[in-house]
Amino acid sequence: MFHKMAAAEADARGAWCVPCLVSLDTLQEYCRKEKLTCKSIGITKRNLNNYEVEYLCDYKVLKDMEYYLVKWKGWPDSTNTWEPLQNLKCPLLLQQFSNDRHNYLSQVKKGKSVISKDNNKALKPAVAEYIVKKAKQRIALQRWQDELNRRKNHKGMIFVENTVDLEGPPSDFFYINEYKPAPGISLVNEATFGCSCTDCYFEKCCPAEAGVLLAYNKNQQIRIPPGTPIYECNSRCRCGPDCPNRIVQKGTQYSLCIFRTSNGCGWGVKTLMKIKKMSFVMEYVGEVITSEEAERRGQLYDNKGITYLFDLDYESDEFTVDAARYGNVSHFVNHSCDPNLQVFNVFIDNLDTRLPRIALFSTRTINAGEELTFDYQMKGSGDVSSDSIDHSPAKKRIRTVCKCGAVTCRGYLN
Ligand SMILES: [Zn+2]
Ligand SMILES: [Zn+2]
Ligand SMILES: [Zn+2]
Ligand SMILES: [Zn+2]
Repeated sequence: MFHKMAAAEADARGAWCVPCLVSLDTLQEYCRKEKLTCKSIGITKRNLNNYEVEYLCDYKVLKDMEYYLVKWKGWPDSTNTWEPLQNLKCPLLLQQFSNDRHNYLSQVKKGKSVISKDNNKALKPAVAEYIVKKAKQRIALQRWQDELNRRKNHKGMIFVENTVDLEGPPSDFFYINEYKPAPGISLVNEATFGCSCTDCYFEKCCPAEAGVLLAYNKNQQIRIPPGTPIYECNSRCRCGPDCPNRIVQKGTQYSLCIFRTSNGCGWGVKTLMKIKKMSFVMEYVGEVITSEEAERRGQLYDNKGITYLFDLDYESDEFTVDAARYGNVSHFVNHSCDPNLQVFNVFIDNLDTRLPRIALFSTRTINAGEELTFDYQMKGSGDVSSDSIDHSPAKKRIRTVCKCGAVTCRGYLN
């Protein structure tokens, strides 16, 4: 279940990332001087010697001619130039420009009753400013999406989308595929026992050795009740990758989208594919820290930071997973009091019961386009007992209001 404690402003930021000291413009200038291409800063063979439109910044009409202010890909803003419409061969960017312009104007209209009509000869500075911000955001989100897909090691793709506001990629988040143990914590990565079945579905396999049932049916769906641990086959087992007892270890199979919610819940995650009920969707990963460290961080974190602390309380309460800075897509999954994902404890190569892996399974069929949610208060057992909510006045927690909108909403996240 998720960790609960007093909230305070986090101030320990900055120590974790190494910013590049040179600006993008300077890097691009170096590349041009040396005639080097570098895709990640936008200098490609195509635009090293040629000019390629990156986005359109502004619009004006001069002597009945339409002009657009062009930002050239791989060149700094100071080299932007006005180009007549007939020279521009970028229909998609023109469309984007027009869409952004309309979105801005319709947003403004909602706010104020009377807005002077957009001058047809030139854009208002505020409109042009918005269009440039939107273009820069799109580039930044695309770059982040590329990075997430380079780092992930599972089959499903990760998409990023923000059609709601100007928020860009999170500045203090690092994608990881598996637990990142804090110094002093060791995660054993080789099991002490492996099965030698010829058919793990029918024989006395790894789960039986641990005294539990095989977690899956033949359709790769979970068939054990919440609160029951999953013991998958591991690196010591004789069976191959097609063994029916290897599901979580294969990672996320679905393409998911990190999207900006329109109801004030920040980022959320939706599936782009239909997910069958009782299917493995993703793992919850982060830094593995001691519960004392979690207590310490909880004092520094703000309300939001606290929601990333997930206590591994399957059998002991020694460790906590902190997904605030290091995590996978699950970092962005919102809470709901009526969720469509359920938490399970999983043991694969690490059989230490103090350190289960946390897997999220669908509780029902989830259609393409639906937001994924899980209950931040949910214990492995699936019930929210009163003892899981800490009411001790000594801790004086700042409670976060829940916006999940479910009929059964409990009102608070913690
Ligand atoms: Zn087996
Ligand atoms: Zn096995
Ligand atoms: Zn097996
Ligand atoms: Zn709620």
